[in-house]
Amino acid sequence: MNDENENITPVTLDKPKVATLPALSGMSMEEIEAFVKELGLPKFRAKQIHSWIYTKWAKDFDDMTDLSQDLREKLKSSATVGMLGLAHLQVSRDDTRKYLFQLPDGKIVESVLMAFQDRPSLTACVSSQVGCAVGCTFCATGYLGFKRNLTSNEIVDQIMTIQRESGRRVGNVVYMGQGEPLLNTDEVVASVKKLINTVGIGARHITVSTSGIVPGIKQLTRENLPITLALSLHAPDTETREEIVPITKRYPIHEVMEAMADYAETTGRRVTIEYVLLKDVTDHPEQAAQLAELVRDLHCNINLIPFNPTMNPNGVMLYDRPTRESQERFKQIASRTGKTVTVRLERGTDIDAACGQLHNKYAAGKT
Ligand code: SAH
Ligand code: SF4
Repeated sequence: MNDENENITPVTLDKPKVATLPALSGMSMEEIEAFVKELGLPKFRAKQIHSWIYTKWAKDFDDMTDLSQDLREKLKSSATVGMLGLAHLQVSRDDTRKYLFQLPDGKIVESVLMAFQDRPSLTACVSSQVGCAVGCTFCATGYLGFKRNLTSNEIVDQIMTIQRESGRRVGNVVYMGQGEPLLNTDEVVASVKKLINTVGIGARHITVSTSGIVPGIKQLTRENLPITLALSLHAPDTETREEIVPITKRYPIHEVMEAMADYAETTGRRVTIEYVLLKDVTDHPEQAAQLAELVRDLHCNINLIPFNPTMNPNGVMLYDRPTRESQERFKQIASRTGKTVTVRLERGTDIDAACGQLHNKYAAGKT
């Protein structure tokens, strides 16, 4: 993997400033209307500004050429367009772009823009929290611990900043960056609605991934949005799952599976079962067979994720990635009950694009 590093283009941008003014990118039409009203401006200004931000991807108020100079100055002294500072950007040889964004309070989160050969449009992976409280034993974000929830605007502006920076349209959004979305369900749901209604991303192109937070799954079911819900199952047996996904002790597998089945039934959407392959921990053939049985009656696809090597805070690599043969054998057995099983395509492994990895290096001053 090291020789690939030569193809990385790291860009460290101007030192981001901690923001004090409100940012408009990330706001809904109603929120922008409230903002222009506050400034004593007529309502149609909201429509103009909204269109500059979401249709034309304006970077600042000076781009808004049909607004008078006076008005632009007034806006500049009351708000900013974007909210996120770009702390660091890496472009990998497969064109994956990894962003480290600075939030208004100075904290850092990460987002990733990926191109997949089997999909015509680009996929962005967004964060929903700074850090994560769930503490899965193989996950770099888990090692960070929980810092805070993101607001819906902070989530939406990740997508908008990516579009403004890359000049490319995001077609798919996955909530698979830092954080557990369903421990921040209100803001995540608000951000999903804004992505659909304001940014213009199709609901069917949005996936929320959860480690299995039952009340959050139920809340999302009540919302009945036609988005995809992915469950990070990772082990079909309680003993293994309790060890690697500690929240299993609070929300046992059968309760989570029941909630997922309800979600699939209510929304009519096929759910995704994610399963990380850790050598000698989750890749046993018996577990593949157990997995096939567990999801037999669930309307789902299975996505196998070969472990992306991460070191824990003590510098220890707790797990290994199974061999290709072992991955293939697992896939064959897991598909026994008729489910489609795919092995996740790697993206940006040369730039640590997997969950929390770049952030950790950044924090340690190694980027
Ligand atoms: N908290 C949510 C979403 C963010 S993590 C969740 O857990 O579902 C997105 C996915 O990446 C999850 O399936 C997670 O288990 C997986 N993941 C985290 N660290 C990983 C690693 N080192 N290798 C492979 N997959 C990993
Ligand atoms: Fe949190 Fe998801 Fe990482 Fe688990 S895998 S620690 S739930 S971000």
